[in-house]
Amino acid sequence: MDKYNMIFKKLDEIGFKITPRELKNINSLGIFTVQELLYYFPRAYDDRTNIKKIGELKGEEYVVLKVQFLTVTNPFTPSRMKMTKARATDGTGIIDIIWFRMPYLVKTLKIGEDYIIIGNVKRGYNFQIINPEYKRLENQKEMKSGEILPIYSTKKNFSQNNLRKILKKAIIDYCVYFEENIPKDILDKYKILERKKALEVIHFPTNKKLLEEAKRRFAIEELLILELGILENKYRSGNLKTRKYSINGEKELVKKYLKNLNFKLTSAQKKVITEIYKELNEGYFINRLVQGDVGSGKTIVSIILLLYIIENGYQGVIMAPTEILAVQHFLSVKDDFKKIGIEVELLTGSIKGKKREGILENIKDGKISLVIGTHALIEENVQFDKLGLIVIDEQHRFGVVQRKKLRDKGILSNLLVMSATPIPRSLALSIYGDLDVSVIDELPPGRQPIKTKWINNDMDLEKAYSFIERKITQGRQVYFVVPLIEDSDKISAKSVEEYKIEIGNRFKNFSIGILHGKMKNDEKYKVMQEFKNKNIDILLSTTVIEVGIDVPNATIITIINSERFGLSSLHQLRGRVGRGKFKSYCFLISKTENDSSKSRMRIMEETNDGFKIAEEDLKIRKSGEIFGVKQSGLSDLKFIDITQDIKTIKQVKEICENYLESTKGRIENPYLKKDIEEKFL
Ligand code: ADP
Ligand code: MG
Repeated sequence: MDKYNMIFKKLDEIGFKITPRELKNINSLGIFTVQELLYYFPRAYDDRTNIKKIGELKGEEYVVLKVQFLTVTNPFTPSRMKMTKARATDGTGIIDIIWFRMPYLVKTLKIGEDYIIIGNVKRGYNFQIINPEYKRLENQKEMKSGEILPIYSTKKNFSQNNLRKILKKAIIDYCVYFEENIPKDILDKYKILERKKALEVIHFPTNKKLLEEAKRRFAIEELLILELGILENKYRSGNLKTRKYSINGEKELVKKYLKNLNFKLTSAQKKVITEIYKELNEGYFINRLVQGDVGSGKTIVSIILLLYIIENGYQGVIMAPTEILAVQHFLSVKDDFKKIGIEVELLTGSIKGKKREGILENIKDGKISLVIGTHALIEENVQFDKLGLIVIDEQHRFGVVQRKKLRDKGILSNLLVMSATPIPRSLALSIYGDLDVSVIDELPPGRQPIKTKWINNDMDLEKAYSFIERKITQGRQVYFVVPLIEDSDKISAKSVEEYKIEIGNRFKNFSIGILHGKMKNDEKYKVMQEFKNKNIDILLSTTVIEVGIDVPNATIITIINSERFGLSSLHQLRGRVGRGKFKSYCFLISKTENDSSKSRMRIMEETNDGFKIAEEDLKIRKSGEIFGVKQSGLSDLKFIDITQDIKTIKQVKEICENYLESTKGRIENPYLKKDIEEKFL
């Protein structure tokens, strides 16, 4: 183990022979230890074994070309963005190359010399590459065939060649310390490349096949360390299928509640409820994600389960991500709960003073059976008499770390996380690591698909507005979503007011209410209530309405500058309508010229299916931007693209479960254990 500890030591402490200047350069890349150095993998490879000819290019592809420039210019562009345009050839065809914000290239690129160009080719009138890497070939010897050179991310004044030399030396000196951290039988079973070999290959590959194997190895290793860390925790906290207590009974409360309901549960809702009943009956802890598209009816599922545990003498909690949503949940259950004699209270940050103290006391005494509130509910010192079930609604951002916090506070009992953010199942399993997943894969009957139209010109906009007028006259209500970012300080009441004036001028005969995050809670509450009671025709809002809001009579949502929203947000926003018996519409107003924005608008027009949208979203976004991924620890992953490599994710999941099963939750390999400790430090 002493030897293994070497790799976590600082380079200067162990006397790695490089100049002080080189050391400083290395440090500037965020590399301090031997481990960090050897795990500083190339960003790309200069694969000279496979130089393409322009004449052989087909569609879009990532290529290495060897070309000479014919022209290099900085043409005038109306926007302030500086652009350099080059035309190049390799004798078999012509390619146009564009660089942005690098005007100096006009001087440095030499006409008639050999260059290597690496980048993504697109097909236009000519073939085109935007912002490729380029490298001048100083002499033909550099053109040795059969060589795959690593390309590292580096800084100015710290050359690729210098970094390559340092890494070569580091591998010779230290590779031997990198003991295998994946158990041997797993290596064999899944045909995973051995660690030392993989380290050599990933930096200095001799052929592409081996390089792919090395990449796969590190993807698996990295994910394995993360997931084992998560799952090991779960084993240790005894939360895995441990019998603790059992909940049983006639479900009288549930029956009474369902009687007052004016609809029947869908079979998907029933399936999920039954699944969880069974676990409760058997006395297992619930630790579950309930996933269902917007409008699939997740709330009622949680309410029924809450009633069941309340009947058994426990208390329950619903946590919502926003006060507005918490208030809405409270209003929607208050009366029905009263009818069956259950005490329910709202507790948010804005309820203060005597009233708060009173509520807190009643929670502690167990007089209140259900508490509805925001996150603050669980972070502040709220004490329960007998807490049986925590429901977290629409909290896609609720990751591994937060759950660990709850557990550490000792207040984690049964947990249901409800989310509409449709993450493909395999990905959800990983993001939510230790959560079981149930899916409500059916909408209540009679829902008509929401008709979505992208509006990109004034004439169509006017048509849409007339349409909206007619619908309001028929008694429907409308949301207008304005593109102001809630979190930022930039949003002011004024900017929302400005939109109100603009829209008010067009819709003179109707009443308009506004809603945004900076309003006081009772103001928000009042506006929501007025909208529900149909005293407001048009609700002008920021994205605070994105999650959960449920007003079935609102049938049109108009999203202004819709290009500013991602697909997930657009889908969530659209989910505010189509909740009742009336046909619903979504207008996306955007004059965007941007290709990826346009494709988002088209996807929205084409489908209402949240899962399909999520898949498309994954294709156009980077993994770090997906809901839930950031907080899960998965976005730190360097060697695996979790949006693309679903197969590896599944494999690692299987590996982890089998491994922990066989070792009863202990990490036996000392090197693996050490790596997990380092990661979760
Ligand atoms: P979400 O899954 O987006 O949270 P909600 O729970 O808010 O959806 O439910 C959306 C709407 O559908 C609500 O008005 C709710 O009362 C209604 N609803 C839920 N389940 C059913 C059902 N089985 N039949 C008809 N309407 C239902
Ligand atoms: Mg909901």
